[in-house]
Amino acid sequence: MEAKTVGQAMGTRSRELLELAETYSANNYHPLEVVIEKAEGVWVWDADGHKFLDCLSAYSALNQGHRHPAIIAAMVEQASKITLTSRAFHNAEMGPFLKVLCEMCQMDLALPMNTGAEAVETAIKAARKWGYTVKGVPDGKADIIVCEGNFHGRTTTIVGFSSEESYRAGFGPFAPGFRLIPYGDIEALRQAITPHTVGFLVEPIQGEGGVLVPPEGYLKDVREICSQRRVLLIADEIQVGLGRTGRLFCCDHEAVKPDMYVLGKALGGGVYPVSAVVAPKDILGVFHPGEHGSTFGGNPLAAAVGTASLRVIREEKLVENARELGAYFMAKLSEIEAKVVKEIRGKGLLIGVALNTTARSYCEALRDEGILAKETHESVIRFAPPLVITRLEIDWMLPRIQKVLTGRQQ
Ligand SMILES: *Cc1c(COP(=O)(O)O)cnc(C)c1O
Repeated sequence: MEAKTVGQAMGTRSRELLELAETYSANNYHPLEVVIEKAEGVWVWDADGHKFLDCLSAYSALNQGHRHPAIIAAMVEQASKITLTSRAFHNAEMGPFLKVLCEMCQMDLALPMNTGAEAVETAIKAARKWGYTVKGVPDGKADIIVCEGNFHGRTTTIVGFSSEESYRAGFGPFAPGFRLIPYGDIEALRQAITPHTVGFLVEPIQGEGGVLVPPEGYLKDVREICSQRRVLLIADEIQVGLGRTGRLFCCDHEAVKPDMYVLGKALGGGVYPVSAVVAPKDILGVFHPGEHGSTFGGNPLAAAVGTASLRVIREEKLVENARELGAYFMAKLSEIEAKVVKEIRGKGLLIGVALNTTARSYCEALRDEGILAKETHESVIRFAPPLVITRLEIDWMLPRIQKVLTGRQQ
């Protein structure tokens, strides 16, 4: 592939800021070369005033769009009252937030945290405690089944059960108690469950894994097996939940209700980290004071932002928009005849375009056309714009995407 005109496409201010970041930041990311300075809705502007359509949405943390006015208003208003109490005291915002959240999930209890990884850790602790105190698993013996290709976050426990070598290498020793099975393979799950299995932690669609959609009926079968064998079905909906796939939860596509929802990303409306585990009383009720917590979890600012973020999803019908425009976007992408495209897959506004070559240079070419997308798993371009996107904006993207995908074919 020819050298891209990356340096030339960038303004001098962006270049300076990028160099500053590269000088002082640990090298744990390989960002696309664009320095974003402001944003509104689906659009972002770089430090030299170039405009781009954000087709990543911060991995679905921006489902409501950048700086949604109702969410910013809630945040500013809350910031002018009180931002943090710690859970040593009650605060006025947390109760109303968790009530709305539980009602949306049709669950009894919620445990608020901050980042997605913390919510996953919380679900792991809840499942183990439930295993020992409710299911009767001998102490220290609980095991949790996870899937190959998973992405559940970056803590040492979580990367310990990743199948991705680059997530793990050099970071051990890792926590025991997890077993990997192939994703989408119902027989593998059936055979992996032992009397000590307390939970099956699964993404309804694997986002980071390359937008992998399991076979139809998989989640329904998973639900049935988990119920039969008394294993908690823990759905990591951090990326695919809250409207992204055209349903409120991705599990809804198969009318499946998990035992625990793990939520994050869009729960914070793109402005603040808010995550939670939401579950029935007989599961989340296993925690007692002192057994789990977070200084910032459930803080007033997070709760006000979370409440507004959920209200925007509901009131602006973002789930319906994701369903309709996702189907439209996917259909239009499928009409593009490009030899480089191997497969187009996904649901709602989570679309993966799998290439038969590495995707990085295509993402760079898209950027030069004014579209910010990021490769996942080397060869997949993920298109996941904010759910507030309009048909016109999708139509604006399509010829540009077509140009990039076809212009480079050999
Ligand atoms: C992003 C993500 C996480 C981790 O969330 P952080 O806020 O980055 O800790 C966990 N699971 C899934 C499916 C995710 O997409």
